[in-house]
Amino acid sequence: MKALLVLTALFVAVFGKRTFEGDQVLQITAKNEAQISLLKELSEQEHLGLDFWREPIHQSLPVDVRVPFNSLQAVRAFLRYNKIHYNVMIKDVQDLMDAEQRQMVKYRTFAKSTDDFIYTTYHDLNTINSFIDMIVAENPNMVSKIVIGQSYENRPLNVLKFSTGASRPGIWIDTGIHSREWVTLASGIWFAKKIVTDYGRDPILTDILNNYDIFLEIATNPDGYEYTHTRDRMWRKTRKPNPGSSCVGVDPNRNWDAGFGGAGSSSSPCSETYRGPSAHSESEVKAIVDFVKSHGNIKAFVSIHSYSQMLLYPYGYTSTPAKDQAELHEVVTKAVSALQSLYNTRYRYGSIITTIYQASGGTIDWTYNQGIKHSYTFELRDTGFYGFLLPAEQIVPTAEETWLALMAIMEHTKNNPY
Ligand SMILES: [Zn+2]
Repeated sequence: MKALLVLTALFVAVFGKRTFEGDQVLQITAKNEAQISLLKELSEQEHLGLDFWREPIHQSLPVDVRVPFNSLQAVRAFLRYNKIHYNVMIKDVQDLMDAEQRQMVKYRTFAKSTDDFIYTTYHDLNTINSFIDMIVAENPNMVSKIVIGQSYENRPLNVLKFSTGASRPGIWIDTGIHSREWVTLASGIWFAKKIVTDYGRDPILTDILNNYDIFLEIATNPDGYEYTHTRDRMWRKTRKPNPGSSCVGVDPNRNWDAGFGGAGSSSSPCSETYRGPSAHSESEVKAIVDFVKSHGNIKAFVSIHSYSQMLLYPYGYTSTPAKDQAELHEVVTKAVSALQSLYNTRYRYGSIITTIYQASGGTIDWTYNQGIKHSYTFELRDTGFYGFLLPAEQIVPTAEETWLALMAIMEHTKNNPY
């Protein structure tokens, strides 16, 4: 793996953007625990360079894995030999990326206002930052930009603050902490526009904003996001080098001080779930930690990922139920049903550890332990057709349905003060 990664790094340095020609994403369905174990063994074969979009966990969930062209024959032989069922989810990863690029170029605009802005395409970091500046300029009485810190590469960590009065409790929403999950940032942009459009028109949102401030961090991992546009569309982690390793970056959703270092995170810098040298080692994480602590009155915290269609609450690092489990379960049940009402998109829901897997050092376990009862995480569309390469025509429907779930969470928070 190391040799391959060094080679990949070299390739990127010399040729610019990493390509994925001939890579396939296989969707594997294990039928029993023995097959799950075999897939776990497969995932440890570092020389194959496999990129698990969904890890082998238990047999009820499919395993999606991007297989580099050069490893396809070996992986297919392994699966056939062990009689493990799979189908080809994406025939050529680069073809999908090319289509995504063509779509972006076609709709690239230099919008002068958030009304002209194209919400139906993906945008690079500069465009997101100019959107942020526009929405602030257009709504000076409600929207402001606060910079909660700097990324490793010294980019500002911009947060939009929606506020209609002083000294209010806060609701936090972040998108894009994993940089390849593009639909989350695109949805974040849409949410911002939705808030300014609906305030004063939608009575429920108006009531929420008359009592709470909403904080929205769209590009939570800006270095990673920029890198997905310029170098490697599949980048997930931060971009901080790891001393003594050629592998770069930390998984910012394993870096929080909640069961830090436990099961469901890796101590290997080359792993996609590398937890980092210590809790809050990543400035992108530390900035939110400092913000939440200094604010001191955040009442709901929602961290948005993709993909798998899930709405989850703590815990991820322990199987001990959260003390508010009954209420949290009631909230996600309402939120998922609101979400489903629009396009019949079906979500799984529950605690992280029971619904997906044990994951330690995750964002919402930390926020929950800080006393933010309403701590939730989304995994947006889809369930394994396009995965991280969700076509742009699904951005707005995804944002619209997710918004209904967010409204359910915010409304419950407002109606049940604590
Ligand atoms: Zn994620």
